[in-house]
Amino acid sequence: MLKKLNFVRLCIILSLFSISLLSADSMEQKIDDLLQKMTLKEKIGQLNQYTGSAKFTGPVQTENRKKLSKAIKNGHVGSLLNVTSAKETRAAQKLAVENSRLGIPLIFGYDVIHGYKTIFPVPLAQASSWDLAQVEKANKVAAEEASAAGVHWTFAPMIDVSREPRWGRIMEGPGEDPYLASQLAKAQINGFQQNDLGKINTIAACAKHFVAYGAPVGGRDYNTAEVSDYTLNNIYLPPFKASVEANAATFMNAFNTVNGRPATGNDYLVDKTLKDKWDFNGFVVSDWNSIGELVPHGVAKNSKEAAKIAIKGGTDMDMESTNDAYLNYLPELVKNGEVSEEKVNEAVKRILRVKYKLGLFEDPYQYSSQQREKETLLDEEHLKTSRKLAEESIVLLKNKNELLPLSKDIETIAVIGPLADDKDSPLGNWRAQGGNENAVSILEGIKQEVKGDTRVLHAQGCVLDKNNARGFSEKVNINTNDTSGFAEAYQTAQKADVIIAAVGETAYMSGEGRSRQNIDLPGVQKQLLKKLRKTGKPVIVTLMNGRPLALPWTDKNIPAIVETWFLGNEMGHAVANILFGDTNPSGKLPVTFPRDLGQVPIYYNHLPTGRPSSDDIFATGYIDGSTQPLYPFGYGLSYTDFGYSDFSLSSREIEMGERLKVKIKVKNTGDRVGEEIVQLYIRDLVANYSRPVKELKGFKKISLEPKEEKIVEFELNKNDFTYYNDNNEQIWEPGDYRIMIGKSSNNIKGEKIISIK
Ligand code: BGC
Repeated sequence: MLKKLNFVRLCIILSLFSISLLSADSMEQKIDDLLQKMTLKEKIGQLNQYTGSAKFTGPVQTENRKKLSKAIKNGHVGSLLNVTSAKETRAAQKLAVENSRLGIPLIFGYDVIHGYKTIFPVPLAQASSWDLAQVEKANKVAAEEASAAGVHWTFAPMIDVSREPRWGRIMEGPGEDPYLASQLAKAQINGFQQNDLGKINTIAACAKHFVAYGAPVGGRDYNTAEVSDYTLNNIYLPPFKASVEANAATFMNAFNTVNGRPATGNDYLVDKTLKDKWDFNGFVVSDWNSIGELVPHGVAKNSKEAAKIAIKGGTDMDMESTNDAYLNYLPELVKNGEVSEEKVNEAVKRILRVKYKLGLFEDPYQYSSQQREKETLLDEEHLKTSRKLAEESIVLLKNKNELLPLSKDIETIAVIGPLADDKDSPLGNWRAQGGNENAVSILEGIKQEVKGDTRVLHAQGCVLDKNNARGFSEKVNINTNDTSGFAEAYQTAQKADVIIAAVGETAYMSGEGRSRQNIDLPGVQKQLLKKLRKTGKPVIVTLMNGRPLALPWTDKNIPAIVETWFLGNEMGHAVANILFGDTNPSGKLPVTFPRDLGQVPIYYNHLPTGRPSSDDIFATGYIDGSTQPLYPFGYGLSYTDFGYSDFSLSSREIEMGERLKVKIKVKNTGDRVGEEIVQLYIRDLVANYSRPVKELKGFKKISLEPKEEKIVEFELNKNDFTYYNDNNEQIWEPGDYRIMIGKSSNNIKGEKIISIK
C-alpha cells in the first residue's frame, strides 16, 4: 500500500515536470543545436532502427549482438524495437547515453497492440464494444504497463479499414467502417498518449499501416491493394487523417502497393498528403524491411535505390531493412547530391522532436524502472478493465426462444470443443508480454461461475493443430481431420442438460501472414456441432475467431450463437458472465459477416448500382445465393428489447454549414437492464459521384433500466455532409440527404429527408 502511494506521488511529481512545459521554440532551438553537432553518419544513425530482442545485460551471444552494441556506441542506432523490461531497456539505453559520442537516447518501440502484460480483447473485438471511453481506458492501461517496462512507443493503433475477411490482420483493426475506425483511432491514441507524451506513464502512438493495407487482392497478406482513388480517399484515408488530428506521434508505412506504387516511399501519399496537406509533424517509420522490399516490388534496383526512394518519399526511420539501406547508402547518396542533406535533417528533427516530447533528453532512464514495473504489470484494476471491455466486446448473434441467459441452477452442463479449455487462444495474436498462465479459459470461467451442485463436464471433441498454427515463421496448417474424439464428446454431451460448444479458430489462425482461403469453421468442427445436435439437447455456440466467418449452417441449426472473438486474460469470466446473464450483451459487429465466401467483399456502405438487387435476373445479384449478409454491420442482440419512436429532425431544410439536430426516443421494453448502441446513418441522395447507400455518421451507447426511456440526440455538422473526390478534394454539395437512425445498418427505425441549400 505504502509502495503504491509512493508510486502515485512520484507520478504526480514527474508529471508536474512534464516536458510538455518546454516551449515549442526552445525545443526547436535545442534540436537545431544538437543537429549542428552531429556528423552525417550520426544523423543517419538516428534514422536507423534495429530489433534487439536478445539480452543486453547477459553475455553477448551472437556476432550480431556484438555488432548491435557497437553500432549503438557509434551512434548508428536511433531506435530499437522488441527490447522490453525495465532492465533490458535500461541496459541498452546506457550504451547510447553513456557510451556514444553525443549521448542521444534511444527510443524503444514495441507492438503493444491490445495490452502489454494485461491483455485486452483484440482490436476487432474492442471495435465491437463501440465504447470509446472503455477503449481509451484499456489503451491507457496498456501504456502504463509498457512504459513501466521501458517501452516508449507502441506500433498501434492499427487502423486499416478492411472489407476482407480472408485477411488475417483484420483482427488487428477496426473493421469495415471509416467513421467507426476514426473514432477508435482517436480513442486509442488518446489512451496511449493522454495528450502529454512527457508523462512517464504515456507512450507515443503509431498510426499504421499507411495506407490501404486492409485491401489486399485475394485477401492475401502483403499483396497489392487494388483501390480506386475515390475509395482510397473516402474509405481508407479518413482514419489516418483522424489520427493526425488526434496528434498521433508517429505513422508507419504499409507493405503494399497503392495504385501500382509501394506505400513506402510514396511521395504523393506520405510527403504531399500526410506531411504537407495534413500537416503531420511527427515521424514516419517504415514497416519491417518495407524499404528493402522496394527491390522485390520492382521499383528499386538495389538497396541504395530503395533508400533514395524511401527518404525522398517521406520515410524518416528505417525498420530493419536488408543491407541496412539507410545506414549504408544514405551517406553516399547525400555526398553525391542524389539526396539533399536537408531531407535527412528534416527526418532527424522529426525523430528528435518525439524523443524530446517523451522527456528522454531530460531523463533517458525515467521509463525503465524495475520498481514501477513490478507494481504496475497485471495490476488487479487492469484486469478489471480488461474484463469490462471483454464483456462489452461480446456480440450475441442468435438467441432463439431466449435460450440465453442460462440459469445457474442447471444440473449438468457440457462444455465441449477444441477451444473450451484453451488458455492460449484467449490472448489472441500480438499478445506482447501476455502469458497464458494468466488467462482464463471458457471452461474455467464457467466452472467458477456456476456454484453449488451444478456439474460441469468437458470433452474436446476435436483438436485444432495449434503447434503448426503458432510459430511466426511457420506455414499455418489450421486444422486436423481427426474425429476420434467425437464419441467421447457425444457421450459427455448426452449427460448434460445444455451443451456449450466452444469452436472457431485458434489465436494464431489470424494476424500477420495468416490469411485463409476458407472462412468457415476450420477442420471437423461443423461435423462436431452436427453430432452434438443429434443429442437433442440445446446447443449454444461460443465462437472464437479473428475474422468474420461464414456460418450459414450454424446459423440455421444452432439456437444460440455468441461471438466472443479473442478477449484477453479475462475471457473465461467475461464469457461466463454473458452466458449466465450477469452482464447483458451489448456489442455490435464492426464488420459484415457473409453467408458465403463467394459474397466477399461484402460491406454495408456500398455504392448503389444502376440495377439494385431484386428478383429480376438482370439486377445485381447471384443465381446461386443471396446478396444479403448473414449478420450485417452494426448488428448484435441483447437479452432485453429496445423500442424506437418519435424520430425527429430540427429542420427539414438547412443552409450548408448549419447544424442539424436528430432525435429519437429509445425505450427498454424488456425486464432487464441493457445497453443499446444507437446508430445514425445518412445517404446523399443525388451527388456528382455515386454515394454509399448508407454511411455511419454517429453512434451513442446508452444504458437503460427496464421500461426506462431516453431521448438520444445527435448533431450533424457541415463535415458530416462531405466527401472526397478522386483528387482528394473535399466536396460539399447542396441537395437532399436521407437521415436514418437504427439498431444496425439494416434495421432502421426512423428516417426522414433533409434538404441542404
Ligand atoms: C508488422 C508491423 C509491426 C512490425 C514490428 C511488421 O511485420 O507489419 O505491424 O509493427 O512488424 O513488429
